[in-house]
Amino acid sequence: MANLPPKLSQADRARAGQAAIAARRDRSTTKERLRAREITIFDAIHDPRESIRKMRVRELLLAVPGIGDKRVDTLMERIGISPTRRIQGIGSAQLLRLRNELSVTKSDVRSGTLIVMSGPGGVGKSTITAHLRNHPSIWISISATTRSPRPGEVDGVDYFFVSNERFDQMISEGAFLEWAEFAGNRYGTPSEPVDQWLSLGKHVLLEIEIAGARQVRRAQPSALLLFIAPPSWEELVERLTGRGTDSPERRAARLALAQEEMACAGEFDHTLVNRTVEEVAQSLLSLASAHQAGSGLN
Ligand code: 5GP
Repeated sequence: MANLPPKLSQADRARAGQAAIAARRDRSTTKERLRAREITIFDAIHDPRESIRKMRVRELLLAVPGIGDKRVDTLMERIGISPTRRIQGIGSAQLLRLRNELSVTKSDVRSGTLIVMSGPGGVGKSTITAHLRNHPSIWISISATTRSPRPGEVDGVDYFFVSNERFDQMISEGAFLEWAEFAGNRYGTPSEPVDQWLSLGKHVLLEIEIAGARQVRRAQPSALLLFIAPPSWEELVERLTGRGTDSPERRAARLALAQEEMACAGEFDHTLVNRTVEEVAQSLLSLASAHQAGSGLN
């Protein structure tokens, strides 16, 4: 017997119908705003709503003033996007080509927000980063480090694991937005991808330690500096020492460092208390968007 699609209940059908209507409304509003030049195509491409992410690139391009039926197909061919591709499937190389093809100047795209996230060890920064990893409005910077990979870490995904010589070379080439030494290893943020993603309208997240955050503040005063704090000092102590595998000396050193790090919170634009990862991630995204809107078109 042929496989039949599952039967939907009347309530399911009604819900699906309502969702489809809402999605159509989102799409048509986005296209209208694009036609009216209230937003750029890059705002639409970075729109996190599922309804927009699922929209075909072709449909979106047709709403850009100056792109009609005649131009759209050659344009897509040159950029290397198939006619059926949806917005969620556009890669970074295609985005760059699209920008060149449309002769979009930097000032046409609202730059994303450079977000620096720091906080004491054990506060949960990497869980927050992991939670945001697939969020469409954010690109997470990949640092270079001289430390060795931990089990499960992948080169080019978690870090670029490089030799001391290569790290020195990157410093002398001016490749880093910032770099610092931490617990005997060096860590640095390669600046080129950060600039590129910001100019394409994405928020860029750096999860770095405090000396690096200070350097970013000097190099890019418009960056948004967020400090992640534990709900209480006791809870941080619990998280740092809970596993009980450290020697007493190591434990004392970790706590002393955390205390020093906590004392730096005042240097940051906002402190977010990590009660739940969802709550912190949501606050971070809202602050990044408000920061972007507040900084105008440049
Ligand atoms: P881990 O070795 O545990 O991955 O990271 C150690 C510390 O280095 C963490 O506080 C992390 O936030 C920080 N870190 C990671 N990448 C960078 C970077 O590119 N620059 C700076 N300054 N710190 C970093």
